[in-house]
Amino acid sequence: MPTPAPTVTLSIVIPMFNEEAVLPLLVERLRPLADGLDTAYEVVAVDDGSSDATPVILERLRREWAQLRIVRLRANAGHQAAISAGLHRARGDYVVTLDADLQDPPEVIAEMLRIAREDHVDVVYGVREDRSTDTAFKRWSAGLFYRSIRRLGAIDAPVDAGDYRLMSRATVDAINSLPEHNRVLRFVVPGLGFPSGSVGYTREVRAAGTSKYPLAKMIRLSVDSVTGFSHAPLRFATWLGLLGGLAALGVLVYAVIARLIGHALPGWTSTVVIVSAVGAVQLLALGILGEYVGRMYAVMQARPTYFIAHDSLDQLDSHR
Ligand code: UDP
Ligand code: MG
Repeated sequence: MPTPAPTVTLSIVIPMFNEEAVLPLLVERLRPLADGLDTAYEVVAVDDGSSDATPVILERLRREWAQLRIVRLRANAGHQAAISAGLHRARGDYVVTLDADLQDPPEVIAEMLRIAREDHVDVVYGVREDRSTDTAFKRWSAGLFYRSIRRLGAIDAPVDAGDYRLMSRATVDAINSLPEHNRVLRFVVPGLGFPSGSVGYTREVRAAGTSKYPLAKMIRLSVDSVTGFSHAPLRFATWLGLLGGLAALGVLVYAVIARLIGHALPGWTSTVVIVSAVGAVQLLALGILGEYVGRMYAVMQARPTYFIAHDSLDQLDSHR
């Protein structure tokens, strides 16, 4: 008789890119914790195209840790894409995403699970209460990042919540159904509108190895965050066009007066008026294009536009 597929209640998804230095430390700390949870679990290690010994170490670890799964990406896809790959592969009723470098203490997982079960919430955010171990630059840039996104996107993402969070199966299925590329999950998840809770923790220093987030990747993440949630940059041309139109009108009045009182060179009036008017019209046209591009982009992202929390008809059905 075939052995039944093991039930997995909790999946721990860990993206890792060249994390050979930290892997042994991670396992040493995570494994006793996971084993002690009293819950069937799997660890989904997403090897994001590492070029160091990460895959070798993972294979070795898997031989003596049955709950460890390795999902290897062909090439480095980036932190967010690696998490997405892990979410697609995870089988648990609950899924936790966790960085490999032990900056987010795995001890918090037990608390997240408890909150999800007792408070019946779908998402439990890990919120960094104390970032004193981060560099001043990281804290400043992160502060600017979260504030700007809030202003631009009108999205209610918890400040200082990174990618350490627990999600229910329903949440993970919802994320998996979105076709959107280059998404920044920490802003997508709150936008899905599931009931949520949070647990605070102190961010620790990277246990070993160096950051895999150079400035270029941080900038990429910021651009993806803004463009993923806001059409403000597209609208910018519309506003510039309108302002340009007003300015062109002012120039027109000024040029006509200058002409009437004889201060203008022949040909100057028409040149100035035409140049400023054409500039304004072009910007306006760009802005209008931007509005349509924004609409197409929203359709492509295919995020739900509303969430039904409850329908009394369904309740009647379930009572039958
Ligand atoms: N990571 C990844 N792919 C990348 C970059 C990073 O999977 O292209 C992983 C990395 O191994 C770590 C997590 O994403 O588990 C967060 O990266 P890191 O700790 O280097 O970022 P920082 O904490 O410095 O912002
Ligand atoms: Mg880190």
